[in-house]
Amino acid sequence: MSLQAFRARRVITPEGIRPAAILVEGERIRAVVSPDQVPAESCTVHDFGEAAILPGLVDSHVHINDPGRAEWEGFETATRAAAAGGYTLLVDMPLNCLPATTTVAGLEAKRAAAQGKCRVDWAAWGGVVHDNRGDIEALAAAGVRGFKCFLVNPGIDSFTMVTEQQLRAALPHVARTGLPLLVHAELPGPIDRATDALANADWSCYASYLQSRPDEAELAAIRLMLSLCREFKFHLHIVHLSTSQALQELRAARSEGLAVSVETCPHYLHLSAETIANGATLRKCAPPIRSRENCESLWQGLGNGTIDLVVTDHSPCPMAMKQLDEGNFRTAWGGIASLSIALALMWTEASRRGFTLLDLARWMAAAPARLAGCDTRKGQIAAGYDADFVVFDTDREFTVTKDRLHYRHPVSPYLGETLRGVVKATYLRGGLVFAGGEFPGEPAGREYARP
Ligand SMILES: [Zn+2]
Repeated sequence: MSLQAFRARRVITPEGIRPAAILVEGERIRAVVSPDQVPAESCTVHDFGEAAILPGLVDSHVHINDPGRAEWEGFETATRAAAAGGYTLLVDMPLNCLPATTTVAGLEAKRAAAQGKCRVDWAAWGGVVHDNRGDIEALAAAGVRGFKCFLVNPGIDSFTMVTEQQLRAALPHVARTGLPLLVHAELPGPIDRATDALANADWSCYASYLQSRPDEAELAAIRLMLSLCREFKFHLHIVHLSTSQALQELRAARSEGLAVSVETCPHYLHLSAETIANGATLRKCAPPIRSRENCESLWQGLGNGTIDLVVTDHSPCPMAMKQLDEGNFRTAWGGIASLSIALALMWTEASRRGFTLLDLARWMAAAPARLAGCDTRKGQIAAGYDADFVVFDTDREFTVTKDRLHYRHPVSPYLGETLRGVVKATYLRGGLVFAGGEFPGEPAGREYARP
């Protein structure tokens, strides 16, 4: 089997950052050794000098929209953007595709759609909707990594929210699978009340949108989920936490011994409400981007471990749905796509707060791999793991331009921004999948399967 060595001054391993050579045999890491221990036998050596080698990133929150809405995104374009961003495994959300991944047939349709198109590996979450509790265990047996549900209307056909009553009926099934339940934690009550009070509001103002989705909607949903977690004993995962007001209760729940994990996204860590201009619907997402102060508290939550991971919630749409001419925050599509530049967004913000590449590797590779149950092969640079790497030039800056985005519709709130850190190359299971703006070779990505 072919032997390769990947050498750099900074290799990010679970034990720390050090000069090392990663020895790769076929698709797996054989060993991580000191730089001078590259064997003399025939071995291809890739020397990356001062650049850093991180584990291939894992994004456990991506909307690929395929099959059924591939004109919004699709496996080909999402995995291309992922490779450019240093990601080697995506876990696809069960909605925005048609059919939704709420039955085994839906999962099989997804597998068929992905065939031969992926530049990085992928896996699927299943959905929990109002009427599919009978499908939950079958989906688990068929290979989904866990489940996702919405406590509020997701705003897209073919995927319904669940009420507390419906959730109570589904939770024993979820608990039996042992897989995590990912929850969009906003409750409709506070949103409806706030929206009613905005009858005459100017919806081109970001403030109107922000007021319509108050912290209280997130807080009430998280409280409900924590009590259900206590009662039904399942692994609860809060997706895209936006309000920092929930951090204390989440921390307390964890000290109580509840199986709770939490994610947030680069847009909540980089943007803030104060800087969102009227009509700037590229910055619309749900829950909404909140104040600068809230953003800083989320960083503290990451720093003290209350927030476990950072994922993109990559959720693109055709340009027209962002309604850029009209700029109406009420009707524009909510969702921000950032797969190709998330690492730079995070490094730009994290490095100036004193965080290191070790933190990034934990938030963006190891922890999401663990959430998706892929952590025996993904998310770390260690012997036995898949040879998934991102080679990252930490010092170079670049300006975000359309040609760097690589997903289907090159729309982004970050265009024109200068960010720190450039992905020089991405390797998937030992093979180069991205370098210098190119995607060499045939699509080699496949579905992550249990070992
Ligand atoms: Zn999402």
